Amino acid sequence: MTNPSDPYDLFDLHVLRTERLGPSMVRVTFGVPDGFVSAGRDQRIKLFFPHPHQDEPLLPRDSTPDSWFLDWRAMDPAERGIMRTYTVRARRPGELDVDFALHEGATGPAATWAAHAAPGARIATLGPTGPDNGGWDFQPPADAPVVIAGDLTALPAIAGNLASLPAGVDVQAWIEIPHPEDRQDLPTKADASITWVAPGDLLETVRAAAFPDTAYAWIAGESSQVKALRRHLVNDRGLNRRAVTFTGYWRRGASEEDLLAEAFAGGSPATEE
Ligand SMILES: Cc1cc2nc3c(=O)[nH]c(=O)nc-3n(C[C@H](O)[C@H](O)[C@H](O)COP(=O)(O)OP(=O)(O)OC[C@H]3O[C@@H](n4cnc5c(N)ncnc54)[C@H](O)[C@@H]3O)c2cc1C
Repeated sequence: MTNPSDPYDLFDLHVLRTERLGPSMVRVTFGVPDGFVSAGRDQRIKLFFPHPHQDEPLLPRDSTPDSWFLDWRAMDPAERGIMRTYTVRARRPGELDVDFALHEGATGPAATWAAHAAPGARIATLGPTGPDNGGWDFQPPADAPVVIAGDLTALPAIAGNLASLPAGVDVQAWIEIPHPEDRQDLPTKADASITWVAPGDLLETVRAAAFPDTAYAWIAGESSQVKALRRHLVNDRGLNRRAVTFTGYWRRGASEEDLLAEAFAGGSPATEE
């Protein structure tokens, strides 16, 4: 998307309720002010969490939308709100749902916070104020078949992508989940075939699937898996590289701070070819 016109702004969030969706995911429903607007699909937002010694995240509240990020970066990392990227799972009047994957093994501040979130807990979001906000990527051409692949962290975005599709579109989606009980209902008007895949099987499952080289593809999840999937789609299956939207949502062994520091140092881990 070029030249988005709707800026992001800071919104306070407070937990209204939580719901365990399966062994590996918890839905947190937040109270959110009216000005927060989601475009649906894979709408991403920044969430800010407090450190263990704080009740709410410390943020540069007097900053303008333009200077906000640099002002946050200039703050003491041991005190400033801990920033992580998440997806809007649903937006209703006064409410926002975010679905958090609960990592097995290594865990970070966001997953830990979500696992223990209780009504009244406060965090904040840098979120969109309108639909033309540049923070979503799922843009299939009107008449193309669609293929979607991702892991549990991509499941909220995949749910939004599927819900956005009109009737008559052919979609194949492969979603890797830690446990069979992590499956969810994913309503869509499209003609969708959804396959739930066991850990480690995503690439092989996509390799074995039949779909036309005219497809539009959307891939997200662990960075190295995303790169391998993209390589397969472009190099082996002949998809047009511009028809493949791909995003590393996390990288094994690296926190989001590590990835941000790397991006500032000149790399771009989430979108590397
Ligand atoms: C655009 C975008 C949208 C996203 N949407 C969602 C979403 O809706 N729901 C969601 O759950 N995640 C989502 N993610 C992924 C999420 O931002 C990362 O998983 C993030 O690292 C979690 O923060 P943390 O503080 O728990 O872990 P970090 O402190 O960032 O990392 C700590 C350790 O945990 C590991 N780790 C991180 N994520 C996982 C994981 N899923 N499984 C196993 N180990 C992990 C890291 O490699 C690291 O070793 C999204 C990411 C992006 C870029």
